[in-house]
Amino acid sequence: MRIRTITNWAYGITVILTALSAAAFIMSSRSAEDERRAVEEHLALDTLTEQLETGAEVSSDEARLYVMRGEQRHLDAFKAETESERQRETAAKQIAARDISVVERNILADIDRQAEALDAVEAAAVDTFQKGDRQAAQQALFGPEHERLQTALLESAGHLRDITATRTGAALDDARRRSDQWSFVAKVMLAMTGLLFLAVLYFILRRRVAVPLVRMTGIVTRLARQDYAVEVPDDRRRDEIGEMNEAIQIFRENGLERERLDAERRADQHTKDLILQMMHRLQACENQQELAGVVARFAPQIFPGIAGSLYILNEDKSALAQAGTWLEPVNAQTAFPANACWGLRRGRPHMSGAGDSDVSCQHVEGSGVAASCLPLTAQGDMIGLLYLEERHGQTPVLDNARLYLELIAENVGLAVANLQFREKLTELAIRDPLTALFNRRFLDDTLHRRGRDNGQEPLACLMIDIDHFKRFNDQFGHDAGDMVMQHVGQVLRSTVAGIGSAFRFGGEEFTVLLPDCSEKDGFEFAEKVRAQIGGAALSHSGQIIGAVSVSIGVATSPAGGTVDTLVSRADAALLDAKATGRNKTVLASSLSRPPQETLRA
Ligand code: GH3
Ligand code: MG
Ligand code: MG
Repeated sequence: MRIRTITNWAYGITVILTALSAAAFIMSSRSAEDERRAVEEHLALDTLTEQLETGAEVSSDEARLYVMRGEQRHLDAFKAETESERQRETAAKQIAARDISVVERNILADIDRQAEALDAVEAAAVDTFQKGDRQAAQQALFGPEHERLQTALLESAGHLRDITATRTGAALDDARRRSDQWSFVAKVMLAMTGLLFLAVLYFILRRRVAVPLVRMTGIVTRLARQDYAVEVPDDRRRDEIGEMNEAIQIFRENGLERERLDAERRADQHTKDLILQMMHRLQACENQQELAGVVARFAPQIFPGIAGSLYILNEDKSALAQAGTWLEPVNAQTAFPANACWGLRRGRPHMSGAGDSDVSCQHVEGSGVAASCLPLTAQGDMIGLLYLEERHGQTPVLDNARLYLELIAENVGLAVANLQFREKLTELAIRDPLTALFNRRFLDDTLHRRGRDNGQEPLACLMIDIDHFKRFNDQFGHDAGDMVMQHVGQVLRSTVAGIGSAFRFGGEEFTVLLPDCSEKDGFEFAEKVRAQIGGAALSHSGQIIGAVSVSIGVATSPAGGTVDTLVSRADAALLDAKATGRNKTVLASSLSRPPQETLRA
């Protein structure tokens, strides 16, 4: 029951009890009034009876004295007393008209009659005396008739007093009893009012209000400190305290929800921050290995519940090769055909193993894990695959994280494409398109770097020039000349592989740099090159071109001079080889003249 209802009821009952108590008090005071009236009535009747008795005696005495002595004063006194008696009789009649018993009324009537008869006897005796018959007058006043009448009057008066005393005594007792009863009822009502007040005070203030309020104060204080672990008891009372309890419960639930949303927002922000960090690192990667490393480092931090691999498509887009992997996915093939993946075939994200509703990719089939294949594309070009797999025992996150995963896939795709594009541009910038060898600019850069960083490390340099090349052009055409140049480039590429670098210096001249190589080894290498170039019999468009020979100059650093003069020294040796018959190798150290920077100017 609501506290307001209880207090309203208590208030109503208190008002009723107070009213009843007041009524009982009024009844009690009325009974006291009845008691007083009974006493007054008793007194009035008693007094009147007594006066009637005394009056009758006094008037008899005065009448007797008058007839005995004949004094006027006794006659006056007799008359005055007779008059008083008339008044008392009138008073007696008035009393008789009131609410007195029939017996009393009858006795009062008897007294009236007897007093009148007595008065008549006495008045007649007085009259007789005044007429001069003293004897008769005295006989009448002292005679038996007078005696009888007087005695009867006195007896009636005495009887009336007794009856009145009995009746008024009973009325008095009754009035007193009723007064006491009403007084008792009033006191009981007052006591009940007091008890009710105390009970309400205890029940409502202490048990229903104070105790729950103290408990709630503790809870609210903890909630105010954002301690939502506090338990709010499930109070099912349907009153104000119950409502307050419910409000506190709602407040706590709201707080918990807010905390959960905050945590979600923070986690979401953390995920976004990590994705952003990863994107920045991806932009700065210099090669695919670095890029795969960045993805493998950040992906498990962003989604600890998702394992995965990064695959890159080969040049002809037929197969995928694993570039990086994280959190040990169940399906971790290092390579598989591009058409084994539905994601790549459709060019859209594809879920496998998440129920039987869709076909599974062949590279996932049978593993029993839920996986998602996100194709990596850039400007409409398919370049790879982000393979993601839900880790065992983790809640399904692939679907929840779909948007972020697609964002990651898009950015990884763009980063891979950028890298591949940059690699292509770099290739174009440093390679000679005809021979596929490095170009002159890259040679200059390499020598510059070498001179700056490893000036003291041994380095051999070969300057190679095709002998009488102009003749091939002139005799077989430029295409044949190009073919000869490609042949020399191919021999140089294969011979320097793993031990040095080959460059097209310009025209039909080439340079080979051999790190950690002595002059002697350089000479042997040059001879090997020369033998291989000259060993092939070339033909073009059905025409036999014949053997190609080259002249080579070899110089070393730092034994023979600095890196800065390496090319010019080798070139001087080459010129010497040309000048001394071609198709030979000349060491710069064997030249008598010091190398001149102007030789090739
Ligand atoms: P030497 O034995 O003295 O080196 O005689 P050479 O004919 O080889 O030398 P020269 O400098 O007289 O001729 C080089 C020719 O190479 C001139 C040029 O037309 C030709 N040439 C330069 N670059 C290319 C090229 O890319 N393709 C073709 N087909 N010819 C080229
Ligand atoms: Mg030449
Ligand atoms: Mg030349």
